[in-house]
Amino acid sequence: MVIAIDGPAASGKGTLSRRLSTHYGWPCLDTGLLYRAVARTMMDQGIASDDMDAAARIAGALDPATFDEKTLRGAQMGEAASVISALPAVREALIGLQRDFAGRSPGAILDGRDIGTVICPDAEVKIFVTATSEERARRRWLELSRSGDPISFEDVLADIHRRDARDSGRSTAPLRMAEDARLLDTTKLDIEAAFRVAVGIVEERLSGRATR
Ligand code: C5P
Repeated sequence: MVIAIDGPAASGKGTLSRRLSTHYGWPCLDTGLLYRAVARTMMDQGIASDDMDAAARIAGALDPATFDEKTLRGAQMGEAASVISALPAVREALIGLQRDFAGRSPGAILDGRDIGTVICPDAEVKIFVTATSEERARRRWLELSRSGDPISFEDVLADIHRRDARDSGRSTAPLRMAEDARLLDTTKLDIEAAFRVAVGIVEERLSGRATR
């Protein structure tokens, strides 16, 4: 079974995916890290962010096993990832890796922006996780502050607005809710409550399978 979790930046989809992964014992892939790793490698090699050929070549050679998550998580990499993720050749180069991951048995969880719409349109469970931009900025700001990043709340909010606009406005695989996805608004839910709603959605599908 594939669980596709999509949603805007800092909506809580990553935490939710990891909780579901532990609960079901299925692997999860944070696909945002793929785009962050491409951006990071380009930066390290001094490659311009609009060099489509170089970006696609780097994307095609990524090995998630070698990722140093700590260097990929910062706000600066999120912004850089959002810029290069609009390049169609980069998205194309990352499709195979994501679909291979989704094919793992008995189940896999992927979170990102286009999992339910482009990468796994046939996923049995699709959840679109969202929250108001202020609440998402508050969570992201807390997370960055705890990790020692001195960024201000206003800068985090501006970053969220910019990324939302870019991710939703691009022509290739824009951020949008799949028609058959379930909406999970976490603005007023803590992670525990959001997790319970998500498990309910998955269990519904699993029991539907059993009685089919
Ligand atoms: O989820 P995260 O914030 O780590 O993603 C970083 C950026 O990568 C996003 O702002 C988005 O532009 C891009 N992304 C994407 N498609 C995905 C996952 C992430 O375009 N499936």
